[in-house]
Amino acid sequence: MELGTRAVHVFNEPFGEGSWPLSVPLVQSSAFAFDSAAELADAMAGPDGRYVYGRRGNPTVRALEQTLAALEGGEGAIAFASGMGAISGVLLALLRPGDRVVAQSCLYGGTHAVLTDLAERYGIEVVRISGDDPAELEAAAVHPATRLLVLETIANPTGRVPDLPGLLAAARALGVTSLVDNSLASPVLCRPLELGADVVVHSTTKYLSGHSDVLGGAAVFADGALRRRVWPRTVELGSCADPFAAWLTLRGLPTLPLRMREHCANAAALAERLAARPEVTAVHHPWRPDHPTYATARKVLAGGGGLLSFELAGGREAGRAFIERVRLAKLALSLGGVETLVAHPASTSHRELDAGALRAAGIAPGLVRMSAGIEDVEDLWSDVEQALSRPEQGLSRPEPALPRPERALS
Ligand SMILES: *Cc1c(COP(=O)(O)O)cnc(C)c1O
Repeated sequence: MELGTRAVHVFNEPFGEGSWPLSVPLVQSSAFAFDSAAELADAMAGPDGRYVYGRRGNPTVRALEQTLAALEGGEGAIAFASGMGAISGVLLALLRPGDRVVAQSCLYGGTHAVLTDLAERYGIEVVRISGDDPAELEAAAVHPATRLLVLETIANPTGRVPDLPGLLAAARALGVTSLVDNSLASPVLCRPLELGADVVVHSTTKYLSGHSDVLGGAAVFADGALRRRVWPRTVELGSCADPFAAWLTLRGLPTLPLRMREHCANAAALAERLAARPEVTAVHHPWRPDHPTYATARKVLAGGGGLLSFELAGGREAGRAFIERVRLAKLALSLGGVETLVAHPASTSHRELDAGALRAAGIAPGLVRMSAGIEDVEDLWSDVEQALSRPEQGLSRPEPALPRPERALS
């Protein structure tokens, strides 16, 4: 079945006396009762037996796991309470002290923070690569303790796309397990397991659920044996998905292909119009021919994605002014929902970085990130235009000297 059909029709199980509910039932039960001790003991054997206790499994959560596995082309999945729950759960399950991790340098802030903690507290070495050349991985993996390669399909907010086919093939040849965060692409634009990845992780908070009403995460495994190895660790961590969160995510999935089409079209149109404006000095979107990883993106992705960023000539003050002047778009630190969101990293998520550190992170002071929603593009453009062209209206107030956030997230 094609992806659009899979998104609608994966769950197909009888419920009760042979009747098929069209919507997946929400089973809001923390525990399940048995007739005999033997049956209960038998059910505790692994992740796929009968349901025992909510932290080990739940019918609604399992329906989500089966759907995500079908969409990504994996042998199984584990749903988590959040994207970070999935990422830290898989890292803790797979890594041991002394291991080496090879990671793309521009990872999501939360993933960067977990890897930094693991390096500081558990003696795990983290080696950074650009992601543009498999030779970087081959050079880093000469170390025999190299265990894991960590990549993101589309980096945030730069829109960089790593050479997934080359890197994943190299990882396989070297015996290094590979993990790809596919949150920004979704299985509609890229299925890393089909390119050779071992594990795909998601913040289902973003495009998969798509309506900014649920926090969730998932790990999808190419090989069922790896899933069975990771699963007991996640039961210990207790970072399982809540049934209602799983139900909301399932509620969003059938429209994922439709929503992605609109996100991609709106982002590409906004990127093109922004690039023609004198206030804008650079636009970053994977689908733009002047993007440094454009050739790779065209090979790896089925669309440019809904996230774009652009740099304002007026620098830091102009960036902050823009996010405070938009009316339709909202200033919020998330992405992938039906509504358009804007953020200005230099004055919010990355404000603990000075100019040099910002430059090293590839973030210009005037850089604005935009998650294109599915609104009518002409309304979005009117909003962007009015926010760009009101320089006479100064900022609402000067940037206050707030305490620095502990870590750059999002
Ligand atoms: C948001 C995000 C995460 C973290 O997910 P949460 O659901 O917020 O825990 C991880 N990776 C990427 C790429 C994200 O955008």
